[in-house]
This record gives sequence, structure tokens and C-alpha cells, in this order.
Amino acid sequence: MARFYITTPIYYVNDAPHVGHAYSTVNADALARWHRLIGDDTKFLTGTDEHGQKVADAAAHNSMSPREWTDVTSQRFREAWAALDIRYDDFIRTTEPRHYETVQKFLTAVHDNGYIYKDTYQGLYCVSCEDYYTLESSDEGRCPIHGRVLTEMREENWFFRLSAFEDRLLALYETHPQFVTPETKRNEALAFIKGGLRDISITRTSISWGVPVPWDPDHVFYVWYDALINYLTAVGYGREDDETSTWWPHSHHLIGKEILRFHCVWWPAMCMAAGLEPVSHVQVHGWLLVGGQKLSKTMAAEGGVKLTDIAPVMLTDEFGVDAVRYYLLRETSLGNDGDFSHEGITARYNTDLANNLGNLVARVTTIVASKCDGRGPAPEVDSELRDAAQTAIIDTALAWNRFAPSFALEATWGLIGATNAYLERRAPWKMSPGEELDAVMGNALEAIRLVAILASPAMPAVSANIWWRIGLEGTPSDEEFAQSATWGRYRGAGLIEKGQPLFPRIKAVVE
Ligand SMILES: [Zn+2]
Repeated sequence: MARFYITTPIYYVNDAPHVGHAYSTVNADALARWHRLIGDDTKFLTGTDEHGQKVADAAAHNSMSPREWTDVTSQRFREAWAALDIRYDDFIRTTEPRHYETVQKFLTAVHDNGYIYKDTYQGLYCVSCEDYYTLESSDEGRCPIHGRVLTEMREENWFFRLSAFEDRLLALYETHPQFVTPETKRNEALAFIKGGLRDISITRTSISWGVPVPWDPDHVFYVWYDALINYLTAVGYGREDDETSTWWPHSHHLIGKEILRFHCVWWPAMCMAAGLEPVSHVQVHGWLLVGGQKLSKTMAAEGGVKLTDIAPVMLTDEFGVDAVRYYLLRETSLGNDGDFSHEGITARYNTDLANNLGNLVARVTTIVASKCDGRGPAPEVDSELRDAAQTAIIDTALAWNRFAPSFALEATWGLIGATNAYLERRAPWKMSPGEELDAVMGNALEAIRLVAILASPAMPAVSANIWWRIGLEGTPSDEEFAQSATWGRYRGAGLIEKGQPLFPRIKAVVE
């Protein structure tokens, strides 16, 4: 059986969950659901990144211990994912004992292999970044990100010999052209490696909220260093429940482009240093940029809205969970930057969901209810819709398999379009009850059944609802995909439920 292990970045626990987080997580969830659907042994990991000085500061500011604070803030992410119907298999917190154990085992291996050494670090330090700058990389002595004056610091640090991995990283990119996708991001990472790599400081003594260095307990690991290792914690690396060989290295990290260097340069080098093969694939996605227009009255804030101000629940309250999932997956092809706007989501909702999908289901169930005694007729073996269905099945599958949810949904919606056009041509609403009408309606129902299967990774609840409306038991993912995703499986005679509109139209905001 094929295996599929996919991860999101672990989210920084001080942030409130927003649409940017939702974008990564919904994409990973849909990909995981697709692989479960086709029968792959699937593991989907997400979680929260909970160490570092800023977390300790925020906890103190809220009169809590760091642990109490992260208990509260980590929970906000679980709630956000529950509200978006995210089905992860594991939720990792970097403050869990299992993570400490794996981090210490992993970095002890790197240390034992001679890639970690002690040196004195002197430089300009930003407390907020928890990182050093050189005079050149600073903004005239200020942090380029935070604007605060950098302090001259001298610290005994442990360093990772990243410089030793230049050639090995270049060889990895050479022999694994699909290591980083899309290609533009691969080239970016490659250019960074070719520019020369410097050793990096991986421990701090000025902080205590972190994973202790096992061979030098006055130090804790720099937060980024422990965070990356979460992907191995979740497969039990170095522990009694070790399943690394089951899930690693044939795994996929889905990340935003702002953390490219950590995942595409540091992380593979760290794995090599520990004597482990690097992960096989990093899929990089772009950023969602908020359009110039107001998002909506409730979302609009004085002076415009930032993406980070939009909680996913603001959108799901207005559009429904599956419509938000659909929009995030469909609007932007994974890897590019996308435009996020209230107009955009309203347009997708009304066009793709209300007009195309919702209208198709409503039309067909209404006619079957009134002219076929409410029982779905069986499709023809050889309908003109059959070809459109086969094309949609193949193209949808290919797109999901190459991490292209947007194209997968486009292919699935191709079948919806073909079925609506077929109904226009045949005009069953003008037909009298009888064999011809039964055949047309059976074909349309079969197309709807296939759409429900193909759309289920993106819209699990809506797909299950459609399944029920066309008189089928269970859910679209119950049966083996290879069996169910073929023309002619709809047997007919199911009791058809018209029900409420799937997607009541939403008025565009006019101001
Ligand atoms: Zn800073």
C-alpha cells in the first residue's frame, strides 16, 4: 500500500489563527483526504511551535507560566481547525515530552557525528527575532524587522557546521529535481546554497524556555532548531515507538515561501548530519494578499484589513465551511501568490457553487421528485456524459497527485459544466415521464455521484450531503475509489431528497 505523510508548518503559538494559517492547513487537509480516498495509508500532521523568548514574555505579560499560556494559545488552533473540518491524524506541540526526547536524540546524533561545535558569538542581537545581525544586514544598527536598536551581545554558543553541507546539498538538488516544487522556489533555494553557507548558531544561554542541550544543560536550542524536528517527533524518531522507517523519508512538507531557507537548506543539512535521509519533497506555497477592496462590513477595520486580522470563523459564518475551503483551494494555484478578497470569495460562491453545483443538484432532484416518482433512475451504459466523466476522473486524480488542488477542482467542475450543458440540450423539463426521461435523469444523477466523490477532499460535508440527496447510503469515500469512480455504478432506485438549497445565493456587497 502506498503511504502519504504530509505536514503543515507548526504555527507560532503567539499568533491568533488567521486566513494565512487556514490556507496552508486546508490545502494539506484536502491533499490528505485525497490520499485517504484513493486508499493510501495516510498521516497528516499539524501543530504549534511553542518555544522562545517571545512566548515566555507573552506568558509573563498575561500573568501565566509559559506552559499555561501555551495550553491556552495552542487550543485556539485546534478550535480553528475543528471549525474548518480539518481532519489531522496528529497535533504536535513542541513543549510535549515526546518532542524533547526526539530533539535531544536527533541533535545528539548530529553532535556525535562532529557537526556541532562550541564557539563564542559576538554580534548585534534582536530580542524579538532571537537572532543575530551583522552591521551590514542590520538597518543602521536597528533590527530590519522590528526597528528596535540591536544590542551588542557576546555569547558562548553551539554552532551547526552548515558550511560542510554545500556540496551535499547541491548534489541532493541535482539528483532529486522534485525535492522542492514549484521550480521557481527550487531555484531560489539553490541560489541561496550556491551563494555560500555559513555555520549557524543553534543554542542560546540567554533564554530558558526551550529544549535543553543534553550535553550542556546551561544552553537551550534556538527555537527554529527544535521546531523543524517536529516532523520527526511525530513519527517517533529516536523513541520506543519509532516509526521513522515507515513514514520517512517519503514525506511531504507543505510550507509558505517565507520559511523556504529553513526547510530547503537547513533542514536537509540537519538530516544528513544526523545520518538520516532528508525528506523527499517540500511543496512551497505563495502568500494570499488582501485585495484593495474592503473585505466586508464586519471585517473592515479603520485603515484597511490585513490578512492576519481575518479569523477563519469570520468567513465560515458568512459563507459556510465548505465554501471557504473551496475558495482557498480553487482560487490560487499552489505555489503562486493569490489575491484574497471578499468580492473574490463572493464571486466564486455564486458562480461555482450556487449557479453551477447547487443549481445542478437542485434541478435534477426536482425533476426526479416530480416526474420519476422520487426514485433515481439508473444511467445508460453508453451516455454522451460518460466521456466527460472519464476525463474529469483522470484529470482530477492527476492534479491532486501533483499537489495541484486548484486544477483538480477545475477538472471536477468541468463535469458539472458538461452535465448542465447536457441538461440544457436534452431539456428533460419538457419531457413526459418515460424511458427517455429516465435515461437523461439517470445519466445526470450518475454525473452528480461522481462529482460528489471527486469533490469530497475539498468539500467533505457538502459531498456527503449530495450523496444523501441522490439516495445513496454512507459517504462518497466509503467504497474503494477505483471501484466507485467509474461510470455506471449508480444503480438507481434511490430515494431522492430535494432538500434546502445547498448554496443560497449571496448578494455582493455594494457600497
Ligand atoms: Zn527583530
